[in-house]
Amino acid sequence: MKRLNFTLDNPTVNLLDELSEKFYSGNKSQTVRAALESLAARQGHDGWIIAGYTQLKVDHDVNCHSCGSEYEEGRVLFKPVFERGNSPKAIQSIPSEEWVECSLCVEKN
Ligand SMILES: [Zn+2]
Repeated sequence: MKRLNFTLDNPTVNLLDELSEKFYSGNKSQTVRAALESLAARQGHDGWIIAGYTQLKVDHDVNCHSCGSEYEEGRVLFKPVFERGNSPKAIQSIPSEEWVECSLCVEKN
């Protein structure tokens, strides 16, 4: 356990009072913990995330998945490697269509 100090505006203080009275017999710590857990559960998004990329020399013309630019056969592009994870960017299933990215987009990610 650790004691934290932080500042809240009046409407938030009133809300905290109200919620803690209503649900946690006035226990504000418990109320804040429940609020944080609920926030984490909503933000968290289980699915597949991109863990890295492997290089790929394309054998036909392709479009970058992110920016849509077209790249000719023979160019070196990048193929995402997926792993299970939790992130706001996680996707529900691994797409079955071709997914390659150009180096510019990989650097941005
Ligand atoms: Zn791109």
